[in-house]
Amino acid sequence: MRPVSTDVAVNSTKPLRKRVAVLGSTGSIGTSTLHVAECLPERLQIVGLSAHSRIDLLLEQAHQFRPRFVCLTDPKVELDPCRLPSGCELLHGPAGIIRMVQADEVDVVVTAIVGAAGLEGTWAALEAGKTVAVANKETLVLAGALVTELAARKRCKLIPVDSEHSAIFQALAGSSLAQVERIVLTGSGGPFRTKTRTELAHVTVEEALRHPTWSMGRKITIDSATLMNKALEVIEARWLFGLQADQIDVVIHPQSIIHSFVEFCDGAVLAQLSPPDMRLPIQYALTYPERLPGPAKKLSWRDLREWTFEQPDHETFPSLQLGYEVARRGGTCGAVLNAANEAAVAGFLNGEMAFLDIPRACRAVLDHHEFDPTPTLAELAACDRWARQEVRRWISRTPRTVPTR
Ligand code: NAD
Ligand code: MG
Repeated sequence: MRPVSTDVAVNSTKPLRKRVAVLGSTGSIGTSTLHVAECLPERLQIVGLSAHSRIDLLLEQAHQFRPRFVCLTDPKVELDPCRLPSGCELLHGPAGIIRMVQADEVDVVVTAIVGAAGLEGTWAALEAGKTVAVANKETLVLAGALVTELAARKRCKLIPVDSEHSAIFQALAGSSLAQVERIVLTGSGGPFRTKTRTELAHVTVEEALRHPTWSMGRKITIDSATLMNKALEVIEARWLFGLQADQIDVVIHPQSIIHSFVEFCDGAVLAQLSPPDMRLPIQYALTYPERLPGPAKKLSWRDLREWTFEQPDHETFPSLQLGYEVARRGGTCGAVLNAANEAAVAGFLNGEMAFLDIPRACRAVLDHHEFDPTPTLAELAACDRWARQEVRRWISRTPRTVPTR
């Protein structure tokens, strides 16, 4: 990642107020971002919001923050512009997102849209030279090589929001990558950490959505239950930090207090610790390189009991291996795995496939795709479409074993 210069005004006592556009403002990361902005009004100004379909929440946010732009991305949803506060322009669809992130009024774009739908806004923001606070890991999974190359070419900062990657970013604190032996991503292990494969065959959507430590959107919560989230994070780390797959390790830490650590060549290990609360990595991405008092929960050292660590169980959770394989091979693999997983998670949430079918379908689609080591963005988009169709075909061919409970 590029070294990042300070954003604090030199020769001035008044710090700059960053103007922030939040893509996906009605989701879990989006609402946490707005909470951070609400707590730091001197430093953060919300100038753009986007939502897919939750109009009521979007309107509430628009009236609270009075942004310059509001964008609605679901073409089926209509909003009367008269309901917006004065001075707020209503935009629509992907073109609206592009117009918003490229506007002169925007300094930083928070990418909190879920899935591959987040790529377009990230790409447009980088093309316009904006700083991007990356929550949407799928963008880096599907097009990490091209996105990081564009960021470097445009001299843009890509600052991680994902808690593990923020922890690594904080622990690196500007150290040269040559001094890094490896990084270790921690993961809670999800709601099924102690289950056997036989037990996993019967889990329901409701059980899979019950995450033990984090409250998140539905897609990432299912990804956490399959450990696909950790697989996507290995790929995300590979691109964000320019590491090789074998420099990235994963350890299960059920308490979610240690958010990841860096092992340096001299044997020193630096970690970042805090309670599981996304407002801290979001705030750090927005105020970097400064640290400011904010709304995130603080560790209570007196209440801490024990921190435990386990090796991930690759047989029960085969998704993780897919992540390593894709991080190693690159090319079209990321786009295929990401799209296959999105389609499979949607299939599981709709009751069309069983929990264990998610990694099975991803494996089948990944193994059948025609690998290209250096795809263009258009070719990656074609891979994304193909992989989604393949999962649909896989679902139609596979006998149903979905729990009815
Ligand atoms: P969410 O489902 O709660 O919110 C998703 C947001 O994206 C909503 O605002 C929704 O309106 C918008 N959206 C959905 N489909 C869209 C589409 N097709 N086009 C445009 N906008 C669309 O998701 P979340 O949990 O906030 O996660 C958002 C992103 O952040 C994901 O990529 C996730 O992996 C990443 N992330 C989330 C967390 C977390 O704690 N929630 C942690 C780390 C990373
Ligand atoms: Mg994470």
